[in-house]
Amino acid sequence: MKVVKFGGSSVASASQYKKVAAILAADPERKAVVVSAPGKRHEGDTKTTDLLIRLAESVDDKSFNEEAFQAVTARYRDIVEDLELDVSLMTEVEAHLHEVISFYRHSKDRLLDGLKASGEDLNAKVMTAYLKSLGREVTYVSPRKAGMIVTDEPGNAQILPEAYPEIAKLRDHPGLLVIPGFFGYSYEGNIVTFPRGGSDITGSIIAAGLDATEYENFTDVDSIYCVSPKMVQQPRELKELTYREMRELAYSGFSVFHDEALQPVVQKRIPVCVKNTNRPEAPGTRIVHERKLDGRPVIGIASDEGFCSINITKYLMNRELGFGRKLLAILEDEGISYEHTPSGIDNMSVILRDHQLYNGQEKRVLDRIRKELKVDDLYVERDLAMIMVVGEGMNQTVGIASKATTALAEAGANIKMINQGSSEVSMMFGVNVKDVKRAVQSLYRIYFPVKETV
Ligand code: ASP
Repeated sequence: MKVVKFGGSSVASASQYKKVAAILAADPERKAVVVSAPGKRHEGDTKTTDLLIRLAESVDDKSFNEEAFQAVTARYRDIVEDLELDVSLMTEVEAHLHEVISFYRHSKDRLLDGLKASGEDLNAKVMTAYLKSLGREVTYVSPRKAGMIVTDEPGNAQILPEAYPEIAKLRDHPGLLVIPGFFGYSYEGNIVTFPRGGSDITGSIIAAGLDATEYENFTDVDSIYCVSPKMVQQPRELKELTYREMRELAYSGFSVFHDEALQPVVQKRIPVCVKNTNRPEAPGTRIVHERKLDGRPVIGIASDEGFCSINITKYLMNRELGFGRKLLAILEDEGISYEHTPSGIDNMSVILRDHQLYNGQEKRVLDRIRKELKVDDLYVERDLAMIMVVGEGMNQTVGIASKATTALAEAGANIKMINQGSSEVSMMFGVNVKDVKRAVQSLYRIYFPVKETV
């Protein structure tokens, strides 16, 4: 039994819906279908989720922006009309949105989650109606019915372990199941969404809950590439990579598969296959527990911007018992999560996603560090990008780091930080944002020489 997830662009229009139906018809193993909200139909288009956010922002005690409401319903109307489905579906769509607005209008966070979730929920209902119209045995299953029990933090749901036995019960349900992605229900009874792009997470949870043989993730690219096509033209396609490699790449900018979506399938070792809805015959990329190393130590290079570093110096820091703990406790206290903590003898840096250090927060955190830890020097460095060189073969290969530093030197990129975790599946370099593209291109040239065939 396979679980299949279709991303936003795969369900953005009637013509995409038809491709989805053909894909489902081609393999009877495809049992549970998770859908995103309709995404972009073309460059410059707006995702339904973003339209819903705009609508949520326009809601006040008495009213909402009618034009924002119409922009959302138009996305479904186009699909319903183009597929010649029963137009009464549109009454359902509108009633659903009105209901969410009136139920949650006094709580901004809940309203936002309720409306965001409507994007996938309504799409799952329209998809169900469409597949039924083709004569398939198909049932819409709401996340509540499916047992998607999650934590109660708006926009940041986490699945609870007790969800899995509930989901397993769906195995015996006859026919095809269509489940909306992106949200679950908390014990408090609220609709709670996963972080953006979270339909991948739903798909993975359903795959784990159903003990699927495979989780197919349909998107709009033929495969995962070893480097972002925004950085390098026509980069090498990856046929297979491990969960650990995917985790590292997803962390640092490979957005084709959500980084939180791996955990549920990893535990059950369910292979993930990333495929293209527009070219389903292409083999795609498989993400698996283990792969044969093909003599190539590095499999991918990823980069991500938006980091900053708090750099701290204090003489004899290495001898001060509890320094690191106290520093991290201040951050915890301020609700800031950190990413890395490279350190020297008398200095330590804490690397963070920089949106966490907004103006007022920055001053308060620095004042506390200065006062409570009596440091000698302290400053924040912004505009940092992280580059990740990833590959299972790296821990058995001598000279990976020297190749990387050579490539970075050739690109004229000043290395601000080097970090290698104990797993040795990746090596991370901090550079200034202005150097990142050149640095990635130079690394690509050194690890993936031109002459190699794909
Ligand atoms: N529709 C949601 C988003 O745009 C979730 C998803 O597509 O995975 O973030």
